Amino acid sequence: MPVPIDDVLNLIGQQNAWRSECVNLIASENTQSPAVRNAQNNDFMARYAEGHPNTSEETRRYYQGTKYIDAIETMAATELKELLGAKQIDVRPISGNNANTAVALGMLRGGDSVIVNSTDGGGHISHAPIGVFGRRIQVRGMALKADGEKGLPLHYWPLAPDKYHMDTPAAIALVEQVKPKLVVLGKSLFLFPEPVSEIAAVCSPLGVPVLYDGAHVLGLIAGGEFQQPLQEGATLLTGSVHKTFPGPQRGIVAANLNPEDEKKYWQPVDRGVFPGSSSNHHLHTLPALLIATREMREHGKTYAKAIIANAQALGAALDSLGVPVEAKEFGYTKSHQIAVNVTAFGGGLEVAKKLEAANIIVNYNMLPGDTDPRSPSGLRIGVQEMTRFGMDTAAMGELAQLMADTLRNKDTAAAVIAFRKRYQTLRYV
Ligand SMILES: *Cc1c(COP(=O)(O)O)cnc(C)c1O
Repeated sequence: MPVPIDDVLNLIGQQNAWRSECVNLIASENTQSPAVRNAQNNDFMARYAEGHPNTSEETRRYYQGTKYIDAIETMAATELKELLGAKQIDVRPISGNNANTAVALGMLRGGDSVIVNSTDGGGHISHAPIGVFGRRIQVRGMALKADGEKGLPLHYWPLAPDKYHMDTPAAIALVEQVKPKLVVLGKSLFLFPEPVSEIAAVCSPLGVPVLYDGAHVLGLIAGGEFQQPLQEGATLLTGSVHKTFPGPQRGIVAANLNPEDEKKYWQPVDRGVFPGSSSNHHLHTLPALLIATREMREHGKTYAKAIIANAQALGAALDSLGVPVEAKEFGYTKSHQIAVNVTAFGGGLEVAKKLEAANIIVNYNMLPGDTDPRSPSGLRIGVQEMTRFGMDTAAMGELAQLMADTLRNKDTAAAVIAFRKRYQTLRYV
């Protein structure tokens, strides 16, 4: 008797068809080229390859049968190091959060203090009290509350009055006062570069490692169109390779350490990756990462440039149509994202649902100053996927009009589908 699967295949088909008609503006997503997609259906999906490629006795695998994944893992590591200007890389984490987990397990113990971006300041949930950094430094009986004094020794970076930049002098003072075990830069609502060199300058003499969480902006970093954290002094770089970096869903940890620091910082991270946070690491998606890395080597610069130009164009267009976009005085953004304040249109949750009904997919987001995550005042919008489908700054103008019309309750569902039909072919420029 064949197992019934028609309903499953049907749902997959519906998803594929629906998403080809939608304008996807989720800032943490991307689409993958046919080459990257097709490289993921292979025998590696059933295999294990713990440890490192068989390059020497010390770094041998724990199983036999790995000669082809060894070749792929070695190439992926070598080519990604080259692309990111890194001396060390670990390509085994299966996601950005998993990469952060490896760093936290390797570098932190209960009671250690850490400085991160707060969630309402744009930080990721893995940086939060209930995320891996918060939980790793918690000791029994300690409240999962980040106040730095009475509860968890998790401290938040002070922000400038505009809330999208760091208050660097206050941040430097906080590092000197707390002398943390680790500081974490980078965010999920991430419009502008972090002051990496200034923070590294105060951390370095204190022996405090600087982790730059580049999950969102890794593709922009690889394209050379955002700050270069490792060159600016970050000790470690973590990232997802499926947000602005158009690869399979995986993560990386990278560094640019001299031999002495390598022992101090890289070895614990290596143990944090395996056995700390992963054993089998979804081998079948690793060839796809290698292909995406080559695509970025070839097209990363033009792609990253086009993404940022589109984000700025969408910000300006929405703003001019009476949909307020944050950080206007700074040109809205220097990344792939913009933050839109939709309080006047019913708030983030309601507006995100309205846009979904019109085939425009976004996520509602807390904006700085919001206190209730269930009633956020904003939307976070990313343009990297639509840029890959060929939308340019003129298309951003059309998209802004469709969005503004939707917010003003016009029926735009069919117009959005017609608009999206014009952008179906993946390309980098
Ligand atoms: C998305 C994100 C992560 C987590 O990455 P996943 O690949 O989803 O696990 C980590 N840090 C930041 C800042 C992020 O935005």
